[in-house]
Amino acid sequence: MVASYTQLIAKRYKGRLDADADEFIAYAVDGSNRMQGLIQDLLAYSRAGTNGKPLHEISSESTLNEALRNLRATIEESGTVVTHDLLPAITTNDIQLAQVFQNLIGNAIKYHGAEAPRVHVSATKNGGNEWIFSVRDNGMGISPQYFERIFVLFQRLHGRAEFEGTGIGLAVCKKILERLGGRIWVESQPEKGSTFFFALPGRDPK
Ligand code: ADP
Repeated sequence: MVASYTQLIAKRYKGRLDADADEFIAYAVDGSNRMQGLIQDLLAYSRAGTNGKPLHEISSESTLNEALRNLRATIEESGTVVTHDLLPAITTNDIQLAQVFQNLIGNAIKYHGAEAPRVHVSATKNGGNEWIFSVRDNGMGISPQYFERIFVLFQRLHGRAEFEGTGIGLAVCKKILERLGGRIWVESQPEKGSTFFFALPGRDPK
């Protein structure tokens, strides 16, 4: 209600008060929009991993496609090319896996480099019977000193003036993956792109 009414005031009264009023109303609109975004992200964080649905066998490729459908507007606007290898069937929670793909691919697009964003998703099984998924981008990259910090709630490497964000997305991924018995990490070099990896337990087919 706060967000919609400040927007309504901005729309109806623009140019009818004075310049200061227009400016203050614009701050109020911006602040309430950010508060809304922050509340939505915090709810996603608090719910991450608590969706009590039993794990079942799903196609991780269909789950990726679901995440890509949710990101369609962002992908089209930015001219991003997303490719993927064949992805496995795994026993997990598809809604939470879609959220992980969506956060990682959304970041790959947001933190792009000089070239149009390209994202590649693949998965391989390691010796420990885990599936290791990777989401690789050609974006601005990350210095090794921040590899741990970016997964902590509210930690961001950029100010709001540069990139919109709340610093919650990667913390949500970490919480989801740990609840699913997995983990997440990154490999990157500044200006050379980043690859986010996550591991999920592979269960032998019955
Ligand atoms: P937000 O995007 O809201 O800041 P995240 O938790 O998703 O929050 O990411 C935390 C920080 O990690 C970002 O602010 C950004 O600096 C860095 N980051 C995340 N993904 C990437 C990426 N693909 N390339 C470069 N930097 C990234």
